[in-house]
Amino acid sequence: MIEDKNQQRTQLSDLGEFGLIDHLTKNFKIKHKSTIKGIGDDAAVLDFKKQIVVTTDLLVESVHFDLSYMPLKHLGYKSVIVNLSDVYAMNAEATQVTVSIAVSNRFPLEALEAIYAGIETAAKIYNIDVIGGDTTSSNTGLLISVTAIGEVDKSKSVYRNGAKPNDLLVVSGDLGAAYMGLQVLEREKEVFKVNPNNQPDLEPYTYIVERQLKPEARKDVIKLLSDLEVKPTSMIDISDGLSSEIMHLCKQSNVGCDLYENKIPLDPQVISTCEEFNIDSTTVALNGGEDYELLFTVSQDDYPKIKANPNLSVIGFIKEEKEGLHLITRADTKIPLKAQGWKNFKD
Ligand code: ADP
Ligand code: MG
Repeated sequence: MIEDKNQQRTQLSDLGEFGLIDHLTKNFKIKHKSTIKGIGDDAAVLDFKKQIVVTTDLLVESVHFDLSYMPLKHLGYKSVIVNLSDVYAMNAEATQVTVSIAVSNRFPLEALEAIYAGIETAAKIYNIDVIGGDTTSSNTGLLISVTAIGEVDKSKSVYRNGAKPNDLLVVSGDLGAAYMGLQVLEREKEVFKVNPNNQPDLEPYTYIVERQLKPEARKDVIKLLSDLEVKPTSMIDISDGLSSEIMHLCKQSNVGCDLYENKIPLDPQVISTCEEFNIDSTTVALNGGEDYELLFTVSQDDYPKIKANPNLSVIGFIKEEKEGLHLITRADTKIPLKAQGWKNFKD
Protein backbone atom coordinates (compact mmCIF):
# COMPACT_ATOMS: atom_id res chain seq x y z
CA MET A 1 0.00 0.00 0.00
CA ILE A 2 2.95 2.28 0.55
CA GLU A 3 4.84 3.51 -2.49
CA ASP A 4 8.56 3.56 -1.89
CA LYS A 5 9.73 6.85 -3.37
CA ASN A 6 13.35 5.67 -3.38
CA GLN A 7 12.60 2.57 -5.38
CA GLN A 8 14.67 2.24 -8.52
CA ARG A 9 12.68 2.62 -11.74
CA THR A 10 14.26 1.33 -14.94
CA GLN A 11 12.18 1.98 -18.05
CA LEU A 12 11.30 -1.22 -19.92
CA SER A 13 12.26 0.47 -23.20
CA ASP A 14 15.88 0.69 -21.96
CA LEU A 15 16.25 -3.08 -22.37
CA GLY A 16 14.34 -3.87 -25.53
CA GLU A 17 12.10 -6.92 -25.82
CA PHE A 18 14.82 -9.57 -26.10
CA GLY A 19 16.97 -8.03 -23.39
CA LEU A 20 13.92 -7.99 -21.17
CA ILE A 21 13.00 -11.66 -21.73
CA ASP A 22 16.62 -12.72 -21.18
CA HIS A 23 16.87 -10.65 -18.05
CA LEU A 24 13.66 -11.99 -16.53
CA THR A 25 14.19 -15.63 -17.40
CA LYS A 26 17.95 -16.05 -16.91
CA ASN A 27 17.59 -17.89 -13.58
CA PHE A 28 15.11 -20.50 -14.76
CA LYS A 29 16.60 -24.00 -14.70
CA ILE A 30 15.18 -27.02 -16.50
CA LYS A 31 14.36 -29.83 -14.06
CA HIS A 32 12.24 -32.29 -16.03
CA LYS A 33 13.42 -34.89 -18.52
CA SER A 34 10.25 -34.21 -20.49
CA THR A 35 11.48 -30.67 -21.28
CA ILE A 36 13.66 -31.11 -24.37
CA LYS A 37 13.82 -27.42 -25.24
CA GLY A 38 12.73 -24.53 -23.01
CA ILE A 39 12.90 -20.76 -23.46
CA GLY A 40 14.87 -19.36 -26.40
CA ASP A 41 13.64 -20.95 -29.59
CA ASP A 42 10.44 -20.33 -31.54
CA ALA A 43 8.67 -22.95 -29.45
CA ALA A 44 9.42 -25.28 -26.58
CA VAL A 45 9.76 -29.02 -27.23
CA LEU A 46 8.37 -31.61 -24.81
CA ASP A 47 8.56 -35.38 -24.75
CA PHE A 48 6.09 -37.34 -22.62
CA LYS A 49 5.52 -41.01 -21.97
CA LYS A 50 2.17 -40.42 -20.24
CA GLN A 51 -1.05 -38.56 -20.95
CA ILE A 52 -0.69 -34.78 -20.99
CA VAL A 53 -2.86 -32.32 -19.06
CA VAL A 54 -3.07 -28.69 -20.20
CA THR A 55 -4.79 -25.76 -18.51
CA THR A 56 -4.77 -21.94 -18.78
CA ASP A 57 -5.83 -19.05 -16.59
CA LEU A 58 -5.84 -15.37 -17.40
CA LEU A 59 -5.47 -12.80 -14.61
CA VAL A 60 -6.48 -9.22 -15.37
CA GLU A 61 -5.64 -6.21 -13.22
CA SER A 62 -8.63 -4.75 -11.33
CA VAL A 63 -10.74 -7.76 -12.33
CA HIS A 64 -8.75 -10.55 -10.65
CA PHE A 65 -6.27 -8.59 -8.56
CA ASP A 66 -5.80 -5.14 -7.05
CA LEU A 67 -2.21 -3.91 -6.97
CA SER A 68 -2.90 -1.56 -4.08
CA TYR A 69 -2.61 -4.52 -1.73
CA MET A 70 -1.32 -7.36 -3.89
CA PRO A 71 2.49 -7.32 -3.88
CA LEU A 72 3.82 -8.08 -7.37
CA LYS A 73 5.89 -11.01 -6.15
CA HIS A 74 2.77 -12.60 -4.71
CA LEU A 75 0.92 -11.93 -7.93
CA GLY A 76 3.56 -13.84 -9.89
CA TYR A 77 3.39 -16.68 -7.40
CA LYS A 78 -0.41 -16.81 -7.40
CA SER A 79 -0.63 -16.72 -11.21
CA VAL A 80 1.32 -20.02 -11.30
CA ILE A 81 -0.49 -21.57 -8.30
CA VAL A 82 -4.01 -21.13 -9.70
CA ASN A 83 -2.94 -23.12 -12.77
CA LEU A 84 -1.11 -25.85 -10.85
CA SER A 85 -4.25 -26.31 -8.78
CA ASP A 86 -6.15 -27.23 -11.97
CA VAL A 87 -3.47 -29.74 -12.95
CA TYR A 88 -3.57 -31.41 -9.51
CA ALA A 89 -7.37 -31.52 -9.73
CA MET A 90 -6.90 -33.97 -12.61
CA ASN A 91 -4.76 -36.12 -10.25
CA ALA A 92 -1.80 -35.24 -12.48
CA GLU A 93 1.77 -34.10 -11.80
CA ALA A 94 2.45 -30.51 -12.95
CA THR A 95 5.67 -30.28 -14.97
CA GLN A 96 5.85 -27.09 -17.08
CA VAL A 97 4.32 -23.62 -17.39
CA THR A 98 4.37 -20.85 -19.96
CA VAL A 99 3.91 -17.27 -18.79
CA SER A 100 2.52 -14.51 -21.00
CA ILE A 101 2.44 -10.99 -19.79
CA ALA A 102 1.13 -7.66 -21.06
CA VAL A 103 2.29 -4.50 -19.24
CA SER A 104 1.70 -0.80 -19.69
CA ASN A 105 4.68 1.55 -19.48
CA ARG A 106 3.65 2.64 -15.99
CA PHE A 107 5.45 -0.54 -14.85
CA PRO A 108 9.24 -0.28 -14.56
CA LEU A 109 11.60 -3.22 -14.99
CA GLU A 110 11.70 -3.64 -11.20
CA ALA A 111 7.98 -4.45 -11.22
CA LEU A 112 8.49 -7.26 -13.74
CA GLU A 113 11.47 -8.51 -11.76
CA ALA A 114 9.21 -8.80 -8.72
CA ILE A 115 6.56 -10.73 -10.66
CA TYR A 116 9.22 -13.08 -12.02
CA ALA A 117 10.72 -13.57 -8.55
CA GLY A 118 7.29 -14.90 -7.50
CA ILE A 119 7.04 -17.11 -10.58
CA GLU A 120 10.53 -18.45 -9.91
CA THR A 121 9.68 -19.22 -6.27
CA ALA A 122 6.56 -21.13 -7.28
CA ALA A 123 8.51 -23.01 -9.98
CA LYS A 124 11.14 -24.00 -7.42
CA ILE A 125 8.73 -25.10 -4.69
CA TYR A 126 6.42 -27.02 -7.03
CA ASN A 127 9.23 -28.37 -9.23
CA ILE A 128 8.05 -26.83 -12.50
CA ASP A 129 9.97 -25.80 -15.63
CA VAL A 130 9.14 -22.37 -17.08
CA ILE A 131 9.42 -23.16 -20.77
CA GLY A 132 8.24 -20.04 -22.58
CA GLY A 133 5.72 -17.29 -22.89
CA ASP A 134 5.10 -14.00 -24.58
CA THR A 135 5.76 -10.41 -23.59
CA THR A 136 3.87 -7.47 -24.96
CA SER A 137 2.67 -4.00 -24.04
CA SER A 138 -0.77 -3.04 -22.83
CA ASN A 139 -2.53 0.34 -22.89
CA THR A 140 -4.45 -0.23 -19.73
CA GLY A 141 -3.21 -2.42 -16.92
CA LEU A 142 -1.36 -5.62 -16.29
CA LEU A 143 -2.39 -9.01 -17.66
CA ILE A 144 -0.80 -12.36 -16.85
CA SER A 145 -1.75 -15.55 -18.59
CA VAL A 146 -0.20 -18.80 -17.43
CA THR A 147 -0.57 -22.17 -19.13
CA ALA A 148 0.35 -25.21 -17.07
CA ILE A 149 1.21 -28.64 -18.43
CA GLY A 150 1.24 -31.87 -16.49
CA GLU A 151 1.41 -35.61 -16.94
CA VAL A 152 -0.65 -38.47 -15.64
CA ASP A 153 -0.87 -42.24 -16.03
CA LYS A 154 -3.95 -43.04 -18.09
CA SER A 155 -5.22 -45.23 -15.25
CA LYS A 156 -4.83 -42.46 -12.66
CA SER A 157 -6.51 -39.40 -14.19
CA VAL A 158 -9.64 -38.24 -12.36
CA TYR A 159 -12.43 -36.27 -14.03
CA ARG A 160 -15.40 -34.36 -12.68
CA ASN A 161 -17.84 -36.93 -13.97
CA GLY A 162 -17.10 -40.10 -11.96
CA ALA A 163 -19.03 -39.58 -8.70
CA LYS A 164 -21.46 -42.42 -7.79
CA PRO A 165 -24.38 -42.55 -5.34
CA ASN A 166 -23.17 -43.45 -1.80
CA ASP A 167 -19.66 -42.05 -2.45
CA LEU A 168 -18.27 -39.77 0.25
CA LEU A 169 -17.75 -36.08 -0.53
CA VAL A 170 -14.35 -34.97 0.79
CA VAL A 171 -12.52 -31.65 0.92
CA SER A 172 -8.90 -30.85 1.77
CA GLY A 173 -7.80 -28.08 4.16
CA ASP A 174 -10.28 -25.42 5.25
CA LEU A 175 -12.59 -23.04 3.41
CA GLY A 176 -13.50 -19.36 3.28
CA ALA A 177 -10.16 -17.96 4.46
CA ALA A 178 -9.12 -16.36 1.15
CA TYR A 179 -12.47 -14.58 0.90
CA MET A 180 -12.27 -13.23 4.45
CA GLY A 181 -8.64 -12.19 3.82
CA LEU A 182 -9.92 -10.17 0.86
CA GLN A 183 -12.56 -8.50 3.05
CA VAL A 184 -9.87 -7.44 5.51
CA LEU A 185 -7.61 -6.11 2.74
CA GLU A 186 -10.49 -4.19 1.13
CA ARG A 187 -11.38 -2.65 4.49
CA GLU A 188 -7.77 -1.61 5.15
CA LYS A 189 -7.58 -0.10 1.68
CA GLU A 190 -10.56 2.15 2.49
CA VAL A 191 -9.02 3.14 5.83
CA PHE A 192 -5.74 3.95 4.06
CA LYS A 193 -7.55 6.14 1.50
CA VAL A 194 -8.99 8.26 4.31
CA ASN A 195 -5.80 8.39 6.35
CA PRO A 196 -2.57 7.35 4.57
CA ASN A 197 -0.63 7.55 7.84
CA ASN A 198 -2.76 4.80 9.32
CA GLN A 199 -0.67 1.63 9.13
CA PRO A 200 -2.92 -1.44 9.07
CA ASP A 201 -2.56 -3.97 11.85
CA LEU A 202 -2.96 -7.26 10.04
CA GLU A 203 -1.55 -9.37 12.87
CA PRO A 204 -4.91 -10.92 13.90
CA TYR A 205 -5.54 -11.84 10.26
CA THR A 206 -2.21 -13.36 9.16
CA TYR A 207 -3.63 -16.71 8.10
CA ILE A 208 -6.58 -15.40 6.10
CA VAL A 209 -4.58 -12.60 4.44
CA GLU A 210 -1.91 -15.11 3.44
CA ARG A 211 -4.59 -17.41 2.00
CA GLN A 212 -5.69 -14.50 -0.22
CA LEU A 213 -2.27 -13.16 -1.22
CA LYS A 214 -0.21 -16.35 -1.26
CA PRO A 215 -2.41 -19.37 -1.91
CA GLU A 216 -0.93 -22.84 -2.28
CA ALA A 217 -1.96 -25.65 -4.63
CA ARG A 218 -2.55 -29.06 -3.00
CA LYS A 219 0.26 -31.04 -4.59
CA ASP A 220 0.69 -32.64 -1.15
CA VAL A 221 -2.88 -33.98 -1.23
CA ILE A 222 -2.31 -35.66 -4.61
CA LYS A 223 0.75 -37.36 -3.14
CA LEU A 224 -1.14 -38.24 0.03
CA LEU A 225 -3.97 -39.89 -1.93
CA SER A 226 -1.45 -41.82 -3.99
CA ASP A 227 0.39 -42.97 -0.83
CA LEU A 228 -2.92 -44.03 0.72
CA GLU A 229 -3.81 -45.85 -2.51
CA VAL A 230 -7.03 -43.90 -2.79
CA LYS A 231 -8.19 -42.98 -6.28
CA PRO A 232 -11.01 -40.42 -6.11
CA THR A 233 -14.04 -41.20 -8.29
CA SER A 234 -14.27 -37.50 -9.22
CA MET A 235 -12.33 -34.35 -8.37
CA ILE A 236 -12.32 -30.55 -8.88
CA ASP A 237 -10.37 -27.70 -7.32
CA ILE A 238 -12.18 -24.98 -5.40
CA SER A 239 -11.68 -21.70 -7.18
CA ASP A 240 -15.23 -20.30 -7.22
CA GLY A 241 -16.60 -21.59 -3.90
CA LEU A 242 -17.60 -24.95 -2.47
CA SER A 243 -21.22 -24.75 -3.57
CA SER A 244 -20.60 -24.08 -7.23
CA GLU A 245 -17.86 -26.75 -7.38
CA ILE A 246 -20.21 -29.32 -5.81
CA MET A 247 -22.75 -28.40 -8.45
CA HIS A 248 -20.18 -28.92 -11.23
CA LEU A 249 -19.24 -32.36 -9.88
CA CYS A 250 -22.85 -33.46 -9.42
CA LYS A 251 -24.03 -32.12 -12.76
CA GLN A 252 -21.24 -33.82 -14.69
CA SER A 253 -21.62 -37.05 -12.71
CA ASN A 254 -25.45 -37.05 -12.92
CA VAL A 255 -25.82 -37.41 -9.16
CA GLY A 256 -27.27 -35.51 -6.21
CA CYS A 257 -25.70 -34.85 -2.82
CA ASP A 258 -26.21 -34.02 0.86
CA LEU A 259 -23.69 -31.57 2.27
CA TYR A 260 -23.47 -31.29 6.08
CA GLU A 261 -23.03 -27.75 7.37
CA ASN A 262 -21.43 -28.92 10.63
CA LYS A 263 -18.73 -30.83 8.72
CA ILE A 264 -17.46 -27.87 6.65
CA PRO A 265 -13.87 -27.20 7.81
CA LEU A 266 -13.29 -23.61 9.00
CA ASP A 267 -10.18 -22.06 10.49
CA PRO A 268 -10.75 -20.25 13.85
CA GLN A 269 -9.54 -17.02 12.19
CA VAL A 270 -12.31 -17.34 9.59
CA ILE A 271 -14.91 -17.82 12.33
CA SER A 272 -13.71 -14.82 14.38
CA THR A 273 -13.40 -12.56 11.32
CA CYS A 274 -16.87 -13.56 10.14
CA GLU A 275 -18.20 -12.57 13.57
CA GLU A 276 -16.38 -9.26 13.33
CA PHE A 277 -17.81 -8.56 9.85
CA ASN A 278 -21.18 -9.95 10.82
CA ILE A 279 -21.19 -12.47 7.94
CA ASP A 280 -22.34 -16.05 8.19
CA SER A 281 -19.30 -18.34 8.01
CA THR A 282 -21.19 -21.07 6.13
CA THR A 283 -22.15 -18.57 3.43
CA VAL A 284 -18.48 -17.59 3.16
CA ALA A 285 -17.31 -21.22 2.93
CA LEU A 286 -19.97 -22.00 0.31
CA ASN A 287 -19.50 -18.95 -1.88
CA GLY A 288 -16.18 -17.32 -1.02
CA GLY A 289 -13.89 -19.03 -3.49
CA GLU A 290 -10.15 -18.84 -4.19
CA ASP A 291 -9.51 -21.55 -1.61
CA TYR A 292 -7.60 -23.74 -4.10
CA GLU A 293 -8.44 -26.78 -2.01
CA LEU A 294 -9.40 -30.07 -3.65
CA LEU A 295 -12.97 -31.35 -3.55
CA PHE A 296 -13.37 -35.01 -4.43
CA THR A 297 -15.48 -38.09 -4.00
CA VAL A 298 -14.30 -41.52 -2.86
CA SER A 299 -15.95 -44.88 -2.54
CA GLN A 300 -17.15 -45.73 0.99
CA ASP A 301 -14.65 -48.62 0.92
CA ASP A 302 -11.87 -46.04 1.12
CA TYR A 303 -13.25 -44.41 4.28
CA PRO A 304 -10.87 -46.24 6.68
CA LYS A 305 -7.88 -44.93 4.68
CA ILE A 306 -8.87 -41.26 4.89
CA LYS A 307 -10.88 -40.90 8.11
CA ALA A 308 -8.03 -40.07 10.48
CA ASN A 309 -6.26 -37.65 8.16
CA PRO A 310 -6.14 -34.07 9.48
CA ASN A 311 -5.85 -32.70 5.90
CA LEU A 312 -9.13 -34.26 4.78
CA SER A 313 -12.74 -33.74 5.90
CA VAL A 314 -15.72 -35.83 4.86
CA ILE A 315 -18.44 -33.21 4.33
CA GLY A 316 -21.25 -35.14 2.69
CA PHE A 317 -22.66 -38.03 0.69
CA ILE A 318 -23.42 -38.47 -2.98
CA LYS A 319 -27.08 -39.29 -3.70
CA GLU A 320 -29.16 -40.34 -6.68
CA GLU A 321 -29.66 -37.50 -9.17
CA LYS A 322 -33.41 -37.36 -8.51
CA GLU A 323 -32.79 -36.57 -4.84
CA GLY A 324 -31.18 -33.24 -5.74
CA LEU A 325 -28.48 -31.21 -3.98
CA HIS A 326 -29.03 -30.18 -0.37
CA LEU A 327 -27.37 -28.55 2.57
CA ILE A 328 -28.20 -30.24 5.88
CA THR A 329 -27.99 -27.37 8.36
CA ARG A 330 -26.80 -27.48 11.97
CA ALA A 331 -30.46 -27.29 12.96
CA ASP A 332 -30.98 -30.46 10.88
CA THR A 333 -33.13 -28.83 8.22
CA LYS A 334 -32.62 -29.67 4.58
CA ILE A 335 -32.33 -26.74 2.16
CA PRO A 336 -31.51 -26.75 -1.56
CA LEU A 337 -27.87 -25.96 -2.30
CA LYS A 338 -27.42 -22.74 -4.26
CA ALA A 339 -24.31 -21.46 -5.97
CA GLN A 340 -23.80 -17.75 -5.86
CA GLY A 341 -20.15 -17.66 -6.92
CA TRP A 342 -17.94 -15.08 -5.27
CA LYS A 343 -18.42 -12.36 -7.91
CA ASN A 344 -22.19 -12.22 -7.45
CA PHE A 345 -21.73 -12.69 -3.75
CA LYS A 346 -19.71 -9.46 -3.58
CA ASP A 347 -22.36 -7.27 -5.23
P1 ADP B 1 8.44 -15.03 -30.98
O1 ADP B 1 8.57 -13.66 -31.52
O2 ADP B 1 8.91 -16.12 -31.87
O3 ADP B 1 7.11 -15.29 -30.36
P2 ADP B 1 9.57 -14.17 -28.52
O4 ADP B 1 10.60 -13.15 -28.75
O5 ADP B 1 8.21 -13.73 -28.10
O6 ADP B 1 9.50 -15.12 -29.79
O7 ADP B 1 10.10 -15.19 -27.43
C1 ADP B 1 11.43 -15.70 -27.45
C2 ADP B 1 11.54 -16.78 -26.44
O8 ADP B 1 11.32 -16.27 -25.13
C3 ADP B 1 10.51 -17.90 -26.63
O9 ADP B 1 11.13 -19.10 -26.21
C4 ADP B 1 9.42 -17.51 -25.68
O10 ADP B 1 8.67 -18.64 -25.27
C5 ADP B 1 10.21 -16.89 -24.54
N1 ADP B 1 9.43 -15.87 -23.82
C6 ADP B 1 8.91 -14.72 -24.32
N2 ADP B 1 8.27 -14.01 -23.38
C7 ADP B 1 8.38 -14.73 -22.23
C8 ADP B 1 7.93 -14.55 -20.90
N3 ADP B 1 7.20 -13.48 -20.53
N4 ADP B 1 8.22 -15.50 -19.98
C9 ADP B 1 8.91 -16.59 -20.33
N5 ADP B 1 9.40 -16.82 -21.56
C10 ADP B 1 9.13 -15.91 -22.52
MG1 MG C 1 6.32 -14.16 -28.95
